[in-house]
Amino acid sequence: MKAVVVNQEGTGVEVIDDAPVPSVGYGEALVKVECCGVCHTDLHVAAGDFGKVPGRILGHEGIGEVVEVGEGVTSLKVGDRTSIAWFFKGCGHCEYCTTGRETLCRSVENGGYTVDGGMAEYCVVPADYAVKVPDGLDSAQASSITCAGVTVYKAIKEAQVAPGEWIVIYGAGGLGNLAVQYAKKVFGAKVIAVDINNDKLELAKESGADIVINSMETKNVTDVIKEKTNGGAHGAVVVAVAKIAFNQAIDSVRAGGTVACVALPSETMDVSIVKTVLDGIRIVGSLVGTRKDLEEAFDFGARGIVVPVVKKRPVEDGPAIFEEMRQGKINGRMVLDFTGETK
Ligand SMILES: [Zn+2]
Ligand SMILES: [Zn+2]
Repeated sequence: MKAVVVNQEGTGVEVIDDAPVPSVGYGEALVKVECCGVCHTDLHVAAGDFGKVPGRILGHEGIGEVVEVGEGVTSLKVGDRTSIAWFFKGCGHCEYCTTGRETLCRSVENGGYTVDGGMAEYCVVPADYAVKVPDGLDSAQASSITCAGVTVYKAIKEAQVAPGEWIVIYGAGGLGNLAVQYAKKVFGAKVIAVDINNDKLELAKESGADIVINSMETKNVTDVIKEKTNGGAHGAVVVAVAKIAFNQAIDSVRAGGTVACVALPSETMDVSIVKTVLDGIRIVGSLVGTRKDLEEAFDFGARGIVVPVVKKRPVEDGPAIFEEMRQGKINGRMVLDFTGETK
């Protein structure tokens, strides 16, 4: 079968067409993949940033139809549409798995990293961990929600912004655009989007941002935010892969505000201890979302409240898309089409 894999050096990506179709074990389901979005995390995996995984099938934004179920499967049946996510499987019994924080499981398996993922014509998933895609939600859009959507949905929850309060979204790309939509249309927040790319900011505006700021063209971004929000935002979510965005986020929230950190630049942020203590700032890391979070995030998509901006591309474009993403050229989300319909 066709698959997008980490090359044999463990340093990049390649498309192969002779990957074996995986076989189904107890509690597992075989998914015929329709499409799989390309995420920035795939770039890190392919480059070996988390450790080299040569030959690994990439992808954790997979959507497809169940074509076979193994023994012991009760939660999925043939014909169901389901997701292949980064949070692929937890142990099910540790302190995190049993307290609603399963994504922090220390024995977690991650799709497209520790186990083969969704960038292939077929993928095997643990049935109890695969979240069903509701009817009425387009597969390419569902793909985008499987990682990007649920990640920002969860991060906005972590930012604890009440309806009518201000939230700043740093980064207006694939994740950022969805963050703007969830923040505005689901959480009822007032939204400021910050990016260095005017096309992305224009899209953010169309998607519901009340204010957009180009941080390259604006001198004192945090002063502007404080002025517009009468003292600072109530929360911030950082999806921009840049240290400066994290630092600006901390400086742009008001006393009692929360900064939810999502992006993964390999640097440290500068945190003023005085501001953190005196202003009671909370800084939290947020990693994808639980199965329940994904179910909720899907539901807003199925009802048309959140509409991911996606573009389907043929599988063969995989390496080119990785390169475009590395250069920050992508607007919205690129989704690899495994049905062969997109030329
Ligand atoms: Zn992802
Ligand atoms: Zn666990």
